Parts: sequence; structure tokens; C-alpha cells
Amino acid sequence: MTATIALAGNPNAGKTSLFNVLTGARQHVGNYPGVTVEKKEGIYIDQERKFRIVDLPGTYSLTAYSMEEVVARDYLVNEEPAVVIDILDASNLERNLYLTVQLLELGVRVCVALNMMDVAKNRGISINVDKLSMLLGAPVIPMVARSGIGKKEVMVASGEVADLSAVRPKLEITYGEDIDQALAELTDLIKEHRFLTDTYPALWIALKYIEEDKQIKDLGKGADPEVSARLEKIVDRLSRHLQKTLNTYPEALIADHRYGYIKSIIRQGVVTYHHKQDRLYISDKIDKVVTNRFAGPMIAAATIFGLYQFVFVYSEVPVGWFEGFFGWIGGFAETHLPEGLLKSLIISGIIDGVGGVLGFVPLLMFMFFGISLLEDSGYLARVAFMLDRVFRIFGLHGSSVMAFIVSGGIAGGCAVPGVMATRTLKSKRERLATLLTVPFMNCGAKLPVFALLVAAFFSENQAVFMFFITLAAWVGALLVAKLFRSTIIRGASAPFVMELPPYRVPTFRGLVIHTWERTWQYIRKAGTVVLSISILLWAMMTFPGLPKSEEHGFDNARKKILAATPLNTASGLDSQKMGDDLSPQAESVRKALLRVDAQEAEAALKHSVAGRMGIALEKVSHWAGFDWRTNIALVGGFAAKEIVVATMGTAYSLGEVDPEETMGLSKKLANSPNWRPLVALSLIFFVMFYTPCFVAVVCISREAGSWKWGAFSMIFNTLLAFMLAVLIFQIGSALGF
Ligand code: GDP
Ligand code: MG
Repeated sequence: MTATIALAGNPNAGKTSLFNVLTGARQHVGNYPGVTVEKKEGIYIDQERKFRIVDLPGTYSLTAYSMEEVVARDYLVNEEPAVVIDILDASNLERNLYLTVQLLELGVRVCVALNMMDVAKNRGISINVDKLSMLLGAPVIPMVARSGIGKKEVMVASGEVADLSAVRPKLEITYGEDIDQALAELTDLIKEHRFLTDTYPALWIALKYIEEDKQIKDLGKGADPEVSARLEKIVDRLSRHLQKTLNTYPEALIADHRYGYIKSIIRQGVVTYHHKQDRLYISDKIDKVVTNRFAGPMIAAATIFGLYQFVFVYSEVPVGWFEGFFGWIGGFAETHLPEGLLKSLIISGIIDGVGGVLGFVPLLMFMFFGISLLEDSGYLARVAFMLDRVFRIFGLHGSSVMAFIVSGGIAGGCAVPGVMATRTLKSKRERLATLLTVPFMNCGAKLPVFALLVAAFFSENQAVFMFFITLAAWVGALLVAKLFRSTIIRGASAPFVMELPPYRVPTFRGLVIHTWERTWQYIRKAGTVVLSISILLWAMMTFPGLPKSEEHGFDNARKKILAATPLNTASGLDSQKMGDDLSPQAESVRKALLRVDAQEAEAALKHSVAGRMGIALEKVSHWAGFDWRTNIALVGGFAAKEIVVATMGTAYSLGEVDPEETMGLSKKLANSPNWRPLVALSLIFFVMFYTPCFVAVVCISREAGSWKWGAFSMIFNTLLAFMLAVLIFQIGSALGF
């Protein structure tokens, strides 16, 4: 049987001209079955082979808006030609590539005929054919169809494409988080019910539903009305969401992203204009400056610095309100609840744990607002575009940048949405390498740990230190990515194109919604995961409590002190429990009693389940300078990094000499004999690199498709972090720090 080659292209791209030079006299004209669209067929013969050639109607796209589009599409899907020759007008490349992108998305075997090269040349446009071919992942043959130049080469290339045994992977464009998420949901549903999948690829059907393609929707309704209705419901939701946040329609957004994809192909040196172009659009004009090799990085750095300023300066006041509020609740509980386990649970377990996490909400809201602004306006895509070059060196991709930023690459994100953001990476290897390294970013839960330690030990230049910490996270992530990409996830990077969507003025409403969506995720985590872990840790730090014999020992010590106290001093002590004006004797007695209380509390903590664990771990952790209290906090941090500070607070307040002189935790650390700047530095690096929190591990496993990767990241990261911490502590100690 002769293989079939279909010719597709925009009207006036030169299809008929090519068809004529290929088939000569061996052609006939008819109509497509059922419609009055002209169908031309012919035969191409050379020394080696024979092809049936079909000239499809000229179309700009494959959406069912016109009869021509439906006919062309049905033909491609139902007749499955061996190759589709896509004819482009080289003098109008950008617009013509729109159809090409859709052919690649449909997954047909494409050979690109770059026609009208003479016209392009006359207009001073030169095209880097090899680069275009590399970026599209299809052969590109320059030609002048009217004179038959390039026809042999096109047929040779087409023959090669027809002979390929492997099906080329379908092009998957990123359509922005909202659409991509809906696409994933739709595709799952379509695959699950094998809905129309005998005829069309699942992802393509999903796209057509989002594009409101009437023909596909009608087909769908006929095939399975129930599934079709569910699909439409998802699209409805997406559509309303986009209307609210971006004030646009899904179809428009899809077209934007396709053009963005094309634009970035063209911008990578594929097209050079030898005449001055007067057709620079506003977006292009802005991009000229913003992605300039020299000005670009400086603008990006200034923007990120501006974001820091914005966040830290303006969030100070509301953060103060939150802290005040939780302080007030804690104080209220302290004075109004009866002594006992319940009080301890409410204060140490619930208020300290959850309050510590929620106290951070205003700062994160400001951060999320700033990041939404950068993202919705389209600027973040430019930052990614510029970093693409750097990231490739480390075996990653510019799209990884977004995942890193979402995870806290600038400050205060979360690895969970960061892991989700890797879905935009269509290449498996780069995606896996990104998945495994995003947890190194300084997420919103690690920030308080750093803030605490920096305030305690490096208070002279906090800003510089925070910057240094951020930098360390990026360097660590990139080096580890490089390590993975040259060992366990080795392999060439797929040729990839970064998208440059056009700039938009973000709507305030959209920003507020996006900010709230992100903040709510965080709050929900505090209300569920952190609350339960906090209670669990509290229990582990409270039970089993001291054995009776030891308790008696402390009781006796207290009795001894009181026995040695004159009666009037002791009664004064009782009536003025919260006493401001104790006599000097009473004061010293009170101190002595509190010292016994503190010793008892410390003994009880050491005796508790968590305390024993911490002490057991000390055997190893002392190499990095961590004491048993820190170990408890770090173990808790695996459940959620938010726990680290909360637990350290509890653990250190339990051993304190005078709990009524409430010192801030950072002061306590600074005064503690176990601590010095070197320990803090070692701990900062450990917290930065050790195992992702439990939720992140679950997400990594799910996205990587196997529990093995989740387990790997727990073990690898912890070992790496421990090695770094030991190295820092040992070298620092040897140098006398
Ligand atoms: P179709 O609509 O895609 O079938 O395009 P046609 O083959 O009918 O071509 C449209 C016009 O472009 C005709 O006037 C052709 O003569 C002209 N044309 C086709 N190929 C070339 C080419 O390579 N160079 C130039 N200069 N003109 C061409
Ligand atoms: Mg024609």
C-alpha cells in the first residue's frame, strides 16, 4: 500500500503550488465526503518510492470554527497520514507557526516545508533553519514551491519521518497553572473512562473541551453524556476562575500561551531581521530591556530586593499584631486555667505550636501578594527565561526556576506547591532533578528558624546573613542537581522552549484571590498537620513523666528550703505569688524554689519519650554540635518544619531557671552554655538541607511516581545536611571558633 502524505498550511502559504510540482499530471479533484470542500489527491513518484499526496484545505488553526478546519482535522485524525507536510510562509513565520504548534500538539508526524524563502530574503528576514528544526523537534526544509526548489529535499525528509518507528512525543505546552491543573484533571477523567480515546489523544480532547470545541463536545455527548457533563463542569469552573482572576477566557489564554511559545522560539535566534523592524509590539519593546543580557539580571535583582523591602517593612506592623494576639491568648490561658496536664497541653501543645505558625501569616501574605504581582504581570516568566541559560549548565531548565521560587527561592514559600509547579516541566529528567532539589529552598517554615538563630548570634548584620543563607540554598540546590544529572538521572536535556506570555496589567481582584489561595493553604496546614504534630510532640515531651522516687526527691528538696525559711517570709511568698515587691529573703527563697522546679522539669523532659530519643541521638549529633534538645526539635521538624522553633521554645523553657523572667528564645540560646555562633551556623545548614517535611515527601513520591524517590530524598538530604553540619562544626572548632 502507498503511504499517504497530507499537505497542511495556512491559506496562501503555497500548498497548491507544492502539490502541483509534486504530483504533476497525476492528480484528481473531488469533494470531501459529505461537504463541499474541495479535495485534491495525487501521486508522487521518484526512483525509490511512491506516495499518495492529499492537499488539505488551508487553515490557521485546528479548532472547529470553520468547515475547513473540521475537514482538515478529521482527515488528520481519521485517515492517519504517514506524514503531514506543514507548509509555512517564511516571511510570516510567527503567524504560520500557530498551526504547526497545534499539529505537534495533536502528535502527528510533521515535516516542515519552509516556503517562500525568496520572499523572506527580499524582505531582509533570515531564518536559522537548523535551530528552528531543533526547537520544533521536526525536520525543516527551506523551499520555493512556485519554482520547485527544495521539493526533492522535502520528500526525502518526509520519507525519513514516515520511516521513523518511534512515535514522536506530543508537544505539551504549559498554559499557566490554572489551565494546566484543569487539563490534568480532565485528562485523568478522560483516560479513566477511555472517553473518545480510541480516536484522539486524551490531552488533546481535554484541550478541545477547554477551547469549547463544539464538534468534540457533541461527539463527547453522544459517546458518554455523563462523563461529558463532568468534563464541562470542570471547564466551567476554570472559566469562571479565569474570568475572576485574569478577566479573560480560556481560549484567549491558550492562544496567548501558544503565541508565547512561538515567540520564544523566534527570540532564540531563529529569525534575524536585516532591516529595522517597525513592528515591535509593546511586549517586545519591554522585553528588549528587561531580558537584556546586562540590564536584565540587574533589573531582576533590584525587583527581588524591592520585594524583600516591601515584605519586611510593611509586614512588620501586622506581624506585631499577630504576635501580640497570641501572646495575649497565652497569658490568658496561663492565669485562668487550673494547673495540670490540660493547661500544659493547651499552652505548650496548642498555643505555642499553632501560634508560632500562624504568627507568620501576615509576612507570608505580603510575600505571596508580591509574588502574585510578579507572576500575573508576566514578569516572573522573564526571570525564568534569563535564568534558563544558567540552569541548563546544571542540567535543569528555566521552568525549574518557577518551582524554586514558589518553594521559597526568594523567601518564604513552600516546597509542596513547588513540587506541584514542576508539572510545567515536560521533560522527565529535568523534572525529577527539580523535584528532588526544590526542598532545599528556604520555605516559610525554615525562615523562623534562621531568623531566630541569626538574631541570637549574628545580630550585627542580619540582612547580609539572610542574603547569604538564600544564596547558599540556591548554590546547594544547583550543585546537587548537577550531581544527580551526572549520576542517577543522567541523560541529555530535551530541547525545550521557554514561553514568554505577553505582559498583562494584573487586576487587584485577581491578586487578592491568588494571595488568599496561597495563604489559605498555609493556614490549613497549621490547623491540621501542625496542630496534630504539635500535640503529639507535647505528649512525647511530657510522658511518661518522672518516676515517683525522683519526684519525692524534688519534693523533699522543696520542703527543705521551706523548712529553713522563717514563717512570715513563707506566708508572704504565698499571698504574693506573682509578687512584684518581695522582701529580699523571700525573693531568694522564691529563686531557690524555682531552681528546683526547673531541675525537676529538665529531669522530666530527659525522662520523657522525646527526651530519651534526643539523648540517644546526641551520640551522633554532637559531631555537628547539636544537643539533645535541638535533636527533639529536628525530629519534630520532619513532621513539619514549623515545629522546630516551637519545640525549641518548649524544650528550652522547661529547663529555665526563672520562667517568670520571660526571655526571648533567641536570648536564651545566646546565653546557653551549649550554644555559640558556630553551632548556630551548623544548625542553619542542617535545617536548610535535611529531609523535606513529611507532606513534601508525600508529594515528591506522588509526583515522581514512586515511593522510592520520596525515601531517597529523606535519606540523601539528611545525610548531606549532616555531612555539611559536621564539616562546618569540626573545621570551625579546629579553627577555634
Ligand atoms: P495555497 O493557498 O496554500 O494553496 O497557496 P498557493 O499555492 O495557491 O500559493 C499562493 C500564492 O503564492 C500563489 O500566487 C503562488 O504563486 C505564490 N507562491 C507559492 N509558493 C511561492 C514561493 O515559494 N515564492 C513566491 N514568491 N511565491 C509563491
Ligand atoms: Mg490552494
